[in-house]
Amino acid sequence: MTGSDNAVPHAEHLTVFYASQTGNSESISRNIYEQAQERGFKAQHYVLNDHAKVDWDKEDCLVFVVSTTGDGDPPDNSTKFWRHLRKLKGVGLTKAKYTILGLGDTNYDNFCQTAKRLDTRLQELGATPFYPRGLADDATGLEEIVDPWIKNLWPALAHQVVSAPTIHDLPQPHLTPEEKKVVKEIIQKQEQERRKSIVASPPASPKSLSPATSATNGHDLLKGAIKDFSNLTLASPVIPAEGYKIDIDFSTMADHVNLTALPRVPNANLQIVDLDITAAPRAPGSVPSFIQTPTPLLMAKINKVQCLTPLDALKRTIAVEFGFEDDVDYAPGDAFGIWAPNNEALVLGVLSALNVSDTAASKAVRLHGQGIPSHLQPVESATLLDIFRYSVDLTTPPKKANIRLYAEHASDLADKQKLMFMASKQGVDVFNAFRAQSPTFLDILHTFPSINLPLARVIETLPPMQPRYYSITSSPMSKNGHRRWSCAFNVISYDLPAGVHRRGVCTPWLDDLAGQVPFGKAVTTGLTTQRLPVFLKPNETKFNLPSDTIKPVIMIGPGTGVAPFMGFLEHRAEQRLIKKRLVNIGSGPRQHLDDHFGDMWLFFGCRHRERDWLFREQMEAYRRDGVLTELQLAVSREENVPNSGKYVQDLMRTQGKQLWNLIHKKGAAIYVCGDAKGMAKAVHDELVNILVEHGEYEKMAAIMELNKWAQEKRYLRDLWA
Ligand code: NAP
Repeated sequence: MTGSDNAVPHAEHLTVFYASQTGNSESISRNIYEQAQERGFKAQHYVLNDHAKVDWDKEDCLVFVVSTTGDGDPPDNSTKFWRHLRKLKGVGLTKAKYTILGLGDTNYDNFCQTAKRLDTRLQELGATPFYPRGLADDATGLEEIVDPWIKNLWPALAHQVVSAPTIHDLPQPHLTPEEKKVVKEIIQKQEQERRKSIVASPPASPKSLSPATSATNGHDLLKGAIKDFSNLTLASPVIPAEGYKIDIDFSTMADHVNLTALPRVPNANLQIVDLDITAAPRAPGSVPSFIQTPTPLLMAKINKVQCLTPLDALKRTIAVEFGFEDDVDYAPGDAFGIWAPNNEALVLGVLSALNVSDTAASKAVRLHGQGIPSHLQPVESATLLDIFRYSVDLTTPPKKANIRLYAEHASDLADKQKLMFMASKQGVDVFNAFRAQSPTFLDILHTFPSINLPLARVIETLPPMQPRYYSITSSPMSKNGHRRWSCAFNVISYDLPAGVHRRGVCTPWLDDLAGQVPFGKAVTTGLTTQRLPVFLKPNETKFNLPSDTIKPVIMIGPGTGVAPFMGFLEHRAEQRLIKKRLVNIGSGPRQHLDDHFGDMWLFFGCRHRERDWLFREQMEAYRRDGVLTELQLAVSREENVPNSGKYVQDLMRTQGKQLWNLIHKKGAAIYVCGDAKGMAKAVHDELVNILVEHGEYEKMAAIMELNKWAQEKRYLRDLWA
């Protein structure tokens, strides 16, 4: 806590914390922080991992904006905080007053788990909520909860302010008439209750938050705009993309004269400082120094690539093996991140649409400004090209706050009206229809050509670029295993009904780099020599093979959800090999080995055996060698497949009795990996059924038992969006 002026009531001190995986919580929390400043609060804004920078005992109010990832996990930038929170004992936070805004998605289990867990833990530690928590749902639109929650936060905070004991005759808080009414009611109630005079309170006048004028907002960099990028240091000339004009029906706009619930336009904090030097070209294959990764960045080469699916498969799946010069310590079940750049044609298209010349795009700049988003803070010297390649997300559909910002900067009245409508409560259907077409930032500029947004505003308000994560499909115990890891993924590339072509960011980039190999044998020669930026993401939830090798393992993973299990199986095959070498095995070697290693069951699902039975050869070999005790194959789009079912959960039902025996009698651990939306829930329900049918549990008791197993890390899930 800062400041020692006795005349200022303590209740004006407010800290806004966030834990964010994709940047949503960060930008919403920044919005709250900026509004708090404008309303005269002495506000601070920190990522949760920086919790120690704030003396919680001395803060009047704490606001947490936290999102949930994976299977109810907290974001990476709050793991240190959670460790700290776990260590705290007793009721050490009795002075803390807090509220929580959770962001989540009801399509996934454990909706807003981080917010709920945080709420429970804070109350256990003695803290008091001063305003009900809000849980916003991305499935229906975060704004539906976020906007009213923030609106009503101010009267609630003002209530805290008026409750402070030393606040007579101080300036009125900066409240709207509606909010003032709420505060007045609170005061009247308190007066009646306590028969004590309480006067509405403090904050100083709003601060000016306009950016300093000494630095450029980007316009100075736009001199000499040309659309020819041929001078740029690119491997091969790339034609800038033009973007699609998104066709949207605005006919309902005429029915609405008054637009309400328009989001607030984010403050302008960022300045682009022109360093007045042409940046030295980066070494080929290197990445800009501003990229921040949770574990050290490694530059990997591609050793091997294989396309696992023929042309008639619904999805193109490729397997890639990465190689390293030094040993990398990892365990099967771990994943890795890869920092892919935005598509180069898209980057050039955006720069061109923003009238940034190739000279300007290649010059070094520094990004600077109080309270700028955390992903921009390390940009000390980088080209605009690299900032648009690696730092900002150009493909995630816009949030309403962005649409509102674009409306502010549209010079054409029709564009402005349409954008305003989309940002309003009344235009929500049009907004959703627009987002459903996955417009890139370039498409937005193309659809509303009169948007003339300063470059600094563009960079500051686009979401942060995210690394992409894949499970490791190999084992460090295999030959040269510490110097290589493998993965497998679907290449995201599809056409929308309107004829618009969409590509993912990372997978088509990797596929292109790996040479777009055809279906068939693995390719090891003639591959690119370019190094790729990757980093290890150790599995935080203990989704690793049990250290006790005799413990049976049940693995459930349709599609590419099988990826970590291929690592488990390779690992187990190596463990068996070592055991075989160490022990002098005479007759019955298989039986001898089986005495040391528990059963391994795999439930895998594909559409057609000939088209997308990923890793078929390996699975069949593991089955033959006894590594895999049981292979259950679900085939969803082929008729009359012997011993099969449509989905993995159908096969679990057929195998219910055996599964129950494995779980109950042999203490098997259950692993589920893959799609968090449909599959994970269906598999969970099937496990409940198995407990009811074969374990004679009541349904509620079965659910509780599964929860217990999850806590004991006997039932583990690695779920992906
Ligand atoms: P997919 O091809 O979409 O589906 C594989 C099979 O699952 C198909 O036969 C499909 O059947 C079936 N399926 C569809 N809905 C289901 C449901 N409700 N319950 C059970 N089965 C269902 O799989 P994918 O695209 O590879 O997706 C796997 C998931 O794993 C993704 O979320 C991915 O992000 C995740 N993941 C990937 C990795 C990696 O490293 N790449 C690692 C871990 C997890 P129909 O389509 O015929 O209905």
